Amino acid sequence: MLKYDYLIVGCGLFGSVFAQKQTHQRGKRVLIIEKRNHIGGNCYTEQIEGINVHKYGPHIFHTDNLEVWNYVNRFSSFNNFVNRPKVCYKNKIYSFPVNLMTLYQLYGVKTPSEAKSKLDEVAIPSQNPQNLEDWILSQVGPEIYEIFIKGYTKKQWQKEPADLPASLIKRLPIRLTFNDNYFNDQYQGIPIGGYTKMFENMLKGIEVKLNTDYFAEKSYWDSIAETIVYTGKIDEYFDYKFGPLEYRGLHFENEILEGDYQGNAVINYTQESIPFTRTIEHKHFEFGQQPKTVITREFPASCQKDDIPYYPVNTKANNTQYECYREEAEDKKTLILGGRLGAYKYLDMDDVILSAMNVANNIK
Ligand SMILES: Cc1cc2nc3c(=O)[nH]c(=O)nc-3n(C[C@H](O)[C@H](O)[C@H](O)COP(=O)(O)OP(=O)(O)OC[C@H]3O[C@@H](n4cnc5c(N)ncnc54)[C@H](O)[C@@H]3O)c2cc1C
Repeated sequence: MLKYDYLIVGCGLFGSVFAQKQTHQRGKRVLIIEKRNHIGGNCYTEQIEGINVHKYGPHIFHTDNLEVWNYVNRFSSFNNFVNRPKVCYKNKIYSFPVNLMTLYQLYGVKTPSEAKSKLDEVAIPSQNPQNLEDWILSQVGPEIYEIFIKGYTKKQWQKEPADLPASLIKRLPIRLTFNDNYFNDQYQGIPIGGYTKMFENMLKGIEVKLNTDYFAEKSYWDSIAETIVYTGKIDEYFDYKFGPLEYRGLHFENEILEGDYQGNAVINYTQESIPFTRTIEHKHFEFGQQPKTVITREFPASCQKDDIPYYPVNTKANNTQYECYREEAEDKKTLILGGRLGAYKYLDMDDVILSAMNVANNIK
C-alpha cells in the first residue's frame, strides 16, 4: 500500500478544500506540496503594519451558493464588506460599476427611465456583437466605453478590445438604479483576520510541505500516492508538448503611508497612459482604523514560463490549444486536475470551492 491516498500539488483553494474534505469526511491519507513559501495560493494575505494585505491582488468573497457560504463560514467569520469600486479618469472620480449615479455624473439623468432613454440615444446598435468593443458600444455608447472600459481593457490584456471576446465583459453590471454593489450575489464579505487565517483553520490536521516544487522530483511524488491532484498549470504538467498556453501576469508595488490614502478599498485607473490599472487600500477591506495604510498599485504584465500565471487569455486559438491538453489528461486515471489553472479559465473563489467539493464528493 502506498503511503498516501492523495498527493495534492498546490495549497491554493482547490487543493485545500479537496484535502479538507478527503481527510475529515473520508478519512483519507493526504499530503499537500506547495512550491511557494506559504499556504493559500493567490488568496494569501500577509500582515503589514497590522493590516491584512492581499498579496496577489484584492480578493472579495462573494457567492450565491448557500452550501459554499456555510462551508467557508466554518473556517472564518466574514465581515459585511461590499465591493463598491470607483473609477478615476482624467482626475475625476466616477461611481462604478455603471449605475444611475454614474449616469447622473455623466449626463445629469436622475431617474431609471431618463437613464434608459439616454442609453438608447448614445448606444451604437449592432446585430449580434461578438467582440468586446462592439458589445459594450451596443450597450452604453462611445463615451462610457472610453471612460470606463477602453484603456483599462487594453492595459489589462494588451490586446485591442475588438480582438477580445464579448464574454470577458458581459458579467459587468450596467444598472439603471443607484445600486453600486459590484457583485449581484447574495452573500459577500472578507474573512475577518485575513484569508491566511481561514486557510490555517481549513488545513488543521493536514500535512503540508512548503517550498516544494512537484516537478523537481516528480517521479518520487508520483510513487508515494495512489492519485495525484494537480492544481498547477496544465501545459507545464505535460511539459508544454502542445506549446505554452497564454496567460497574463501582474506586478504589484506596495507603499506604506500615513492615515487614509483614497477612502475606498479599490479605485480603477482607466486611462491608457497610466500604467497601473488600480490602487488597492487594504485596510478598507476590514474597516481598519490603523494609523498607517498600505496601498498597492497593480500593473498588468506579460507572463513568461516562470512567472505567476494570473489570467488565462481565453481566445479561440488558446482554448483550442487547451483542449489538446485536456484530452491528454483524460487518459490518465490516477490524475485529477483542479482549480483555475487546470481548467484554464478565470474562476471566482466560490466556483473553485464548489468544484473541489464536487470532485471530492463524487469519488467512489
Ligand atoms: C488578481 C486577482 C484577483 C482576484 N479576485 C477575486 C475576487 O475578488 N473574488 C473571487 O471570488 N475570486 C477572485 N480571484 C480568483 C481567485 O484567486 C481564484 O478563484 C483562486 O485563487 C483559485 O484557487 P486555485 O487553487 O485554483 O489556484 P491558486 O490559488 O493559484 O493555487 C494553486 C497553487 O498551486 C501551486 N503550484 C503550482 N504549480 C506547482 C508545482 N509544480 N509544485 C507545487 N505547487 C505548485 C501554486 O504555487 C499555487 O499556490 C482573483 C484572481 C486574481 C488573479
